[in-house]
Amino acid sequence: MDTIFAQATATGRAGVSVIRLSGRQAFDIAKNFCKLPAVGRTGLRALLGCDGALIDHGLVLCFEQGASFTGERVVEFQVHGGLATVAKLLAELSMQDGCRLAEPGEFTRRALENGQLDLNQVEALSDLIDAETEAQRQQAIRVLDGSFGDAGAQWRSKLLRAAALLEASIDFSDEEIPDDLSVEVVSLVEETCGSIAAILERSTMASKIRTGFTVAIIGAPNVGKSTLLNAIVGRQAAITSNVAGTTRDVIECRVDLQGLAVSFFDTAGLRDSEDEIENLGISKAYEMASAADIRVFLVEEEGVVLPIARRDEDIVCLNKADERQPGVAAVSGKSGEGVSELLRQISERLMVKTPQDVVAIRERQITGLRAAETFLERVLELLGADPLPFELASQELYFALSELDFVFGRIDIESVLDEIFSSFCLGK
Ligand code: GDP
Ligand code: MG
Repeated sequence: MDTIFAQATATGRAGVSVIRLSGRQAFDIAKNFCKLPAVGRTGLRALLGCDGALIDHGLVLCFEQGASFTGERVVEFQVHGGLATVAKLLAELSMQDGCRLAEPGEFTRRALENGQLDLNQVEALSDLIDAETEAQRQQAIRVLDGSFGDAGAQWRSKLLRAAALLEASIDFSDEEIPDDLSVEVVSLVEETCGSIAAILERSTMASKIRTGFTVAIIGAPNVGKSTLLNAIVGRQAAITSNVAGTTRDVIECRVDLQGLAVSFFDTAGLRDSEDEIENLGISKAYEMASAADIRVFLVEEEGVVLPIARRDEDIVCLNKADERQPGVAAVSGKSGEGVSELLRQISERLMVKTPQDVVAIRERQITGLRAAETFLERVLELLGADPLPFELASQELYFALSELDFVFGRIDIESVLDEIFSSFCLGK
């Protein structure tokens, strides 16, 4: 297998850039540039090119096989982060025999192949690199930390025990089967199924942490929806005017609300209009509103009939606080009154929905867990039958196991791998 290299830090001017070299020959190749420090120690070295000229002074670190990110021998060069310095070192590396530039995600792929990471951790790593908010970071780090993998390992060992018990019973005659045997099988399967169901329940919200929550601002024309959106995002994202029907499209702005990624939608004012284009905007507004996690209804007076049914988590706000008596709870995009209180309410309501526990976040994981859950429910059904159809139950149990193996990357996953790694950046 080739020894691969790439810049591990982002491209561009920086104080320091890290260039990573991984593979069986990593140490031998690195020796052509400088004398290597002992494994696990850093050494400040003059890095020399093949013509003997100085490339840069930098820190060199060596990791032994089995004790590195990829699981292979790894050498890291920390050099000055100038574009030309990095380019020169990369060019010198590419001239070495058996050494080539890594493909995007190739370091991580080797980590997976060498058992340093499981498939869920690989995805979590990609999420961690992409994380823009605190909640996204926490969620990714929980999976990367291996807690999801631990849950999977527990399910697997319980189901394998259940399968072994079932298999043993197939060889018994009916009278010989001890009663408590099927009792144990049932409880093993029930526990696993319950634990999977609990994770699935939390997962819809968890995937929102990754992709972002949505909040729609709804109300009649001219109540100040666009002005409120602008106040929330701190810039003129939407045009505001006293002409009713100004906003026709749905305008989306993404903000980081106390660590949660939230998209705010400003919509066309809901009214009956003669204008064809405005009506298109209005029907889009209804669509957005029904799909949003929270709707903020901006109203002129208390008790008005809302254009769509209110849900528990929705918020109704009086508008134009600056024109009202002081002390009346209202919000104003124009003066900013009540805006931070509104945002606090929104983030509180979203926070309640966000799981602090192990979750499955990727569609791939959720689909696999659902399938496993369905097979396990079927096993439980069969275990309730009399006489017990051991062979059928055992078969369904193996189906569930193989779904889990797919989720945790234990079985043939080549096709999934290509898809996952295609989203990785170079140097990871
Ligand atoms: P939209 O149709 O609901 O998007 O309303 P706009 O944000 O376009 O605002 C309609 C009119 O109300 C504009 O003339 C705004 O200047 C005015 N307006 C909006 N918000 C406020 C507010 O909080 N206070 C006051 N006094 N006027 C506002
Ligand atoms: Mg508007």
